[in-house]
Amino acid sequence: MAIVNELFGSNVFSDHIMKQRLPKETYKALQKTINEGANLDISVANVVANAMKDWAIEKGATHFTHWFQPMTGITAEKHDSFITPTNDGRILMEFSGGELVRGEPDASSFPSGGIRATFEARGYTVWDPTSAAFVKSKTLYIPTAFCSYTGEALDAKTPLLRSMEAISKQAVRILRLFGNASATSVRTTVGPEQEYFLIDKAMYEQRKDLVYTGRTLFGNKPPKGQELEDQYFASIKTRVAAFMNELNEELWKLGVLAKTEHNEVAPAQHELAPIFTTTNIAVDHNHLTMELMQRIAKKYDMICLIHEKPFEGINGSGKHNNWSIATNTGSNLLDPGKTPFENAQFLLFLAAVIKAVDEYQDLLRISVATAANDHRLGANEAPPAIVSVFLGDELSAIVDALVSGSAYDAKSKTMMQIGVDVLPQFPKDTTDRNRTSPFAFTGNKFEFRMVGSSMSIAEANTVLNTAVAEILREFADTLEKASDFKTALQQLVKDTLSAHKRIIFNGNGYDDAWVAEAEKRGLLNLKTTPDALPYLLKEKNVKLFETHGVYSHTEIHSRYDISLENYCKILNIEALTMAEMAKTSILPAVASYAKELAESAYAKKAILDKADITYESDCVAKLSALTTALWKSTTALESALQKAETLGDITEKSMSYKNGVIPAMDTVRAAADALELITAKKAWPFPTYGDMLFSV
Ligand code: ADP
Ligand code: MG
Repeated sequence: MAIVNELFGSNVFSDHIMKQRLPKETYKALQKTINEGANLDISVANVVANAMKDWAIEKGATHFTHWFQPMTGITAEKHDSFITPTNDGRILMEFSGGELVRGEPDASSFPSGGIRATFEARGYTVWDPTSAAFVKSKTLYIPTAFCSYTGEALDAKTPLLRSMEAISKQAVRILRLFGNASATSVRTTVGPEQEYFLIDKAMYEQRKDLVYTGRTLFGNKPPKGQELEDQYFASIKTRVAAFMNELNEELWKLGVLAKTEHNEVAPAQHELAPIFTTTNIAVDHNHLTMELMQRIAKKYDMICLIHEKPFEGINGSGKHNNWSIATNTGSNLLDPGKTPFENAQFLLFLAAVIKAVDEYQDLLRISVATAANDHRLGANEAPPAIVSVFLGDELSAIVDALVSGSAYDAKSKTMMQIGVDVLPQFPKDTTDRNRTSPFAFTGNKFEFRMVGSSMSIAEANTVLNTAVAEILREFADTLEKASDFKTALQQLVKDTLSAHKRIIFNGNGYDDAWVAEAEKRGLLNLKTTPDALPYLLKEKNVKLFETHGVYSHTEIHSRYDISLENYCKILNIEALTMAEMAKTSILPAVASYAKELAESAYAKKAILDKADITYESDCVAKLSALTTALWKSTTALESALQKAETLGDITEKSMSYKNGVIPAMDTVRAAADALELITAKKAWPFPTYGDMLFSV
């Protein structure tokens, strides 16, 4: 392996490469576009495209693709080669500025939630020059946004970029009030920690449920699970280590800052954390990370499961979204700082985040709502479906003192006067201990822990950015009018924290007592996707997105439909898979096993009059009762499914899946799982949890 610093970014058309390969004027013009969003002249685009193509060809590329993020949760690409025929029967390798800037994928089969039906059939992709192009599998990848012809966003990137602009605009207004004249923009930064499982490929292939749905629909917890906690941070097994090495190398080549890796809590579970970067780049990099994990695992005869809940009863996988705000001059606005001045600014941004999370708790919940993540949230291993903010004891004491106007330090009787007093230093490691909080302050950033492992992090960050932008807008409106900034600031922070204190919770989020307490506080507990989604259409939420130009009215409605359609489709596939596995593999396998037992009893009797056949007869009786239960519950599942599928209205349909299909699936599973426990291992038609979880 080449040394890491040579390897790093070697397949990226990075700033460094651009500086080397672009004429000075072109480079400057492009930087203006990247940093300030200035329009890019086509003549400049032509020069950039040509340099990109020459560089990509040197890296072995023959094709280019506009890489985009339709509302399927994953990325899409269509490859075109660089070849252009000449009159004399040869070819040239060409790539124009037009091709770089804009593409037209055949978009007709990507979800649009009705946008294309009412407007225009086609969509187009537009280059996102802030996320660097790269070469992968002989192809030049150009990160792009995907829109309809009338300009509606058909993807996850467009609203994210709009939300980044919104928060930048409002945060700069606040910075000006604090006398900061140098920062001209603000970007949000994200470091997503990615959890995943690795299992043996041969095992995976024998499980139709994993192949079709990404999770197991049947199976009992093995006798040994995670109770010994011997997997967490344990030394990494050889095959897994080889996989991780190759993954790191490939990620580094693509400029992804893969930093830490370790075993997670559950057997076969692992985590990869990158160093944080600008949010839209972090989103792109996280997509690359998930894709490479899945591809590279196969080379080692393993399968990487990114599903939120591959195994019932075993910890699921999430994606901790570490989020902060930084100025273009390099200061982190969620760092408390050391001077009264820095502290005052920090407290204002902190108050803004707290208020944003409280007022838009429904949107944050919605941003992580999928059929898969419903299995995880609130299952005593992941944050509950209730959104709350963890601040830690030190910061909470400050908040209490500000709200009550009393001393925050009992001993020295210090009163907190914003802009005058210095905050105590918060020891970083004490702030990160509460792993049960969905939204935790961890010293100089917030960690949003509800995001599911397989989801794009775009939506969660779009909501977060927009909600905070809105509160900053309100703050700026108030403070810009104030005659005395310091007094107004003190009052604003105090009022905001008093009004939104209910969202702060430092206790154990896995505790049932919290559910009751949260209800008393009036916090939402939106347990499932169909419970959560209707909140998206609430007037305050539509207004939020429209005010900041993040989603139009049409776009919100389309997203509502797409989310619920996706929920129903996932459950439909799961239910069909379940019925198929029950009818065509479990029931026949158990029937022949019961026959074998019965024959064994007969055979015993034949040679021994008084043979004891208690085991055989008891077992056959149980098998046959459970077989009947499985058969009947499968039939019931099929009717529940049919009933849900006949409903035309997507809201009703999703409710019918939640209230009809899911309980029917649970009944099928209960019968099948009971059968697994009394059926001979050799007769069971697919690998068990124990086989899979301890397979690599
Ligand atoms: P740990 O969670 O193990 O304590 P850290 O808190 O240092 O580790 O980092 C966890 C993740 O948070 C990493 O991906 C890291 O890059 C990211 N992170 C650190 N600082 C920031 C920041 N200012 N903005 C966004 N993410 C950050
Ligand atoms: Mg962390």
